[in-house]
Amino acid sequence: HLDLYHALDPSSYLVVPLVARGRTLGTVSLGTGESGRHYGPDDVAFMQAVAGRIAVAVENARLYTEAGESLALLDTLLVSAPVGIGFWDRELRFVRVNDALAAINGLPPEEHVGKTLAEVVPGLADRLEPMYRSVLETGVPLVHQESTDGGEIAPGSDRHWLSSYYPVHTESGETIGVGAVIMEITDRKRADDRLRLLAEAGELFSSSLDRDEIFARVARVVVPRIADACNIFLAEDNGIVRVAYSHVDPERERIMAEMPSRYSFGRTRPALLEQVVFGGQAMLAPTLTEEVVGALETIGLDRELFARVGSRSMIFVPFSSRGRTLGVMTLGSLVPGRFGEADLELAKELARRASIAVDNALLVDELQARAQAAQALQFVADGVFLLDSEGIVRLWNPAAAAMFGLLEPDVVGRRLTDVVPGWLDVESLVPVAGPASRSARAETVPVELEDRELWLSISGVRFEEGIVYAFRDLTEERALERIKSDFVSTVSHELRTPLAAIYGAAMTLRRSDVPLSDDQREGMLGVVSSEAERLARIVNDILLASRLDSDVVDVAIDSADALALAKQVVAAAGAHLPPGIELALRAPEDLPPISADADKLRQVLVNLVENAIKYSPDGGLVELELTPVPGRMRFSVRDRGLGIPASEHTRIFEKFYRLDPDLTRGVGGTGLGLYICREIVRRMEGRIWVESRPGAGSTFTFELPLA
Ligand code: ADP
Repeated sequence: HLDLYHALDPSSYLVVPLVARGRTLGTVSLGTGESGRHYGPDDVAFMQAVAGRIAVAVENARLYTEAGESLALLDTLLVSAPVGIGFWDRELRFVRVNDALAAINGLPPEEHVGKTLAEVVPGLADRLEPMYRSVLETGVPLVHQESTDGGEIAPGSDRHWLSSYYPVHTESGETIGVGAVIMEITDRKRADDRLRLLAEAGELFSSSLDRDEIFARVARVVVPRIADACNIFLAEDNGIVRVAYSHVDPERERIMAEMPSRYSFGRTRPALLEQVVFGGQAMLAPTLTEEVVGALETIGLDRELFARVGSRSMIFVPFSSRGRTLGVMTLGSLVPGRFGEADLELAKELARRASIAVDNALLVDELQARAQAAQALQFVADGVFLLDSEGIVRLWNPAAAAMFGLLEPDVVGRRLTDVVPGWLDVESLVPVAGPASRSARAETVPVELEDRELWLSISGVRFEEGIVYAFRDLTEERALERIKSDFVSTVSHELRTPLAAIYGAAMTLRRSDVPLSDDQREGMLGVVSSEAERLARIVNDILLASRLDSDVVDVAIDSADALALAKQVVAAAGAHLPPGIELALRAPEDLPPISADADKLRQVLVNLVENAIKYSPDGGLVELELTPVPGRMRFSVRDRGLGIPASEHTRIFEKFYRLDPDLTRGVGGTGLGLYICREIVRRMEGRIWVESRPGAGSTFTFELPLA
C-alpha cells in the first residue's frame, strides 16, 4: 500500500497484524492526513482488538470451507462404500442410507428417507428394532450376525450379514440416533461352511465300510448344505444307474423317486455326458441350458419329471476309484446361477473324499473275501498252496498237508523246493494262467516225495502276490489205471494159456499122420475139457464181477447147511490136488443152519480154497474150519503159503488187484476172486477179512448170520 500512502500523504499511520490461533493471516493498516490527527497507544490497542476479531472471523470462514469440503468427501465415500451404511433417528426412521445399504434393502436410497424400519424391511423389523432401541437407550454399540433365509423354494440361497450398530451423539452427548455398518458375508460364510463340510464329510464317509451307505451319506450331507438336490449314479457297461438321491423338499424328493434309475448311453453317447461319466471330467452348468437338458434327455431323462424337480443350476462330478471312473454325482439348485466355480471345487473335493471312503470299503470287502476264501481253503478237498515270487510258500491248506504229508507250520515261510525237492522237476510242467485269463487246464504230473510218488492233477493262477496252485491227488487213480492195464495183460495171459492148450490138443487130435493111442486121445480130450472149463471160469468171473459192480446180482437168501456145503467143496478140490498140498476140513458136528445163498456161498468157499492152494506153491496144509460164534457162523481158510504183507490186506479185496501181477512166482489169476468173495459176503450180511504175514501163510475168514 506504500504508493497509496505516499499519495494520501498521511500525517499519521498505523499497522496491526491479523493473528488467529497464533498464525498471522495478514495486516490491517490505517492512515490519517487532513484531520491532523495522530494515532496514539489507545488507537493501537483498539485496532489490535478489532484485528483479533477480524482474524477469528477470517479463520472461521476458512475452516468452514475446509470442513464443507471434507464433509462432501466423506459423503462420497459413504455413498460409494462397499459396505452398507445408514443412519436412523430416535423414531427409527431412515435419515440417510448409502447405495450399498439401499441395494441390500432393494429400494433406491431416496425412498428410504423418512420411512420406518418396518416400512422398508418388514420381514426383519421385528428382529432389528430391539437392537436399535437397546443402542439408543444404553449408548452401547452392538455387533450382530444376521441371516436371511432363502425360503422354501430356494433354501440353498441363504444370505448372511454382519452388522454393527452404534449410537450417534451430539457434542453435548445427547443420543440422537443410530448408525449402522452392514456387511454381506455370504461368500465368507459359504467358504467357512465348505471347510467345515469337508472336514465333517471326510469323517462321516470313512466311518462306513458299506459302499451304498457311503453314497447315501454323501447325498444326505450335500443336501441342503450345498445343494437342493443330489443324485449319485454308478457307471455301468454303457450307462449309469442311480444308487442314491436326496432333495431338500420332501415333495420334490418323491418326484425324484418316480424318475427312472437306469440311463443308457445307447449308440448316441452324448459327448457332453460321456466326458463326465467315462472321461472323469467335472461339469458346471451355472444355469441349466437346453444343451445339457437335451443331452440328459437322450440318455433317458424324463423331461417333465425333471422340470417338476426344478433344478436350474447343476454340477456334475465324477467319482473314481483306483484310477477308474466309478460313477457320477449330480448337484442341483432351484436357483438359477446358484452354482459357481467355488461350488464345483467343493463338489469335486467331496467326491474325492467319498471315493477314498469307497476305495477303503472295497479294500475291506476284498480283505474280508480273502479271509473267507482262506477259511474256505481250510475245508476244500483240493490241495491249494500259494508260492510268492521267491518261491516261498505263503499258504498251505490242510488238503495239501494231507497229500504231501507235510504240516502247514513246517512248510509256510520256507522255499517249496527246500521241503519238496521233487517240485523242481515238475514246476515248469504245471500250466499257469494269468489272473484275467481262463483258468489253465490241469496237468497230471508226478511229484517225487521222500518215500513215495505223488501224482497230482495241478494248475496254477498268477496273482500279484505270486502263484496259487490247486491240485487233486491222482495217485489212487494212477494206481487203478495201472491195475487196469495190468489186468488186461494178466487176463490176456490167463485166456491165452488155456486157449493154447486147447488149440494144441485139438490140432494133435486132428492129425491123421500120427497114430494116437486111446489113452493119448482121452488125455487130449481131457485137456480140452478142463482148459475149456478154466476158460469158462475166467469169463464167468469177469462177468460176475461186472454184474456185482453194477449191482444186478440177485442173492437168494435161504436156510443153508454150512457143513454139507463145506464137505462138497473140500471133496471137489481134493479130487485134483497139486503135489505137496494137503486139504483138511475141521468142524464140529450138529452145526446150526445159516442164512445164505447156498450157490454163492459155495463160490466163496471154492475161491478161498483155490487161492489157498494156488498161493502155496511149495505145498503145505490147507484147512477149512467152521466155528459157530454167537449169532453167526465163522468160516476160515488157512494155508502155509506165500502170505500177504499187512499193507495189502485191504487192497487184495479190490477188483483186479494182484500182489504179483508180473507172475514172478508163476501164479496166475485175474485179481477178481477176492473182490467177488467180498461182494457176495456183503450181500449175505456178512464180513470178510484176512490175517497174514509174508512167508507165514494166510487165514481168510468170513462170518455169516445164522438162520
Ligand atoms: P487172483 O486171481 O490174483 O488170485 P484174487 O482176488 O483171488 O485174485 O486175489 C488177489 C490177490 O490176493 C492175489 O493176486 C494174491 O496176490 C493175493 N492172495 C489171495 N489169496 C491169497 C493167499 N491165500 N495167499 C497169498 N496171497 C493171496
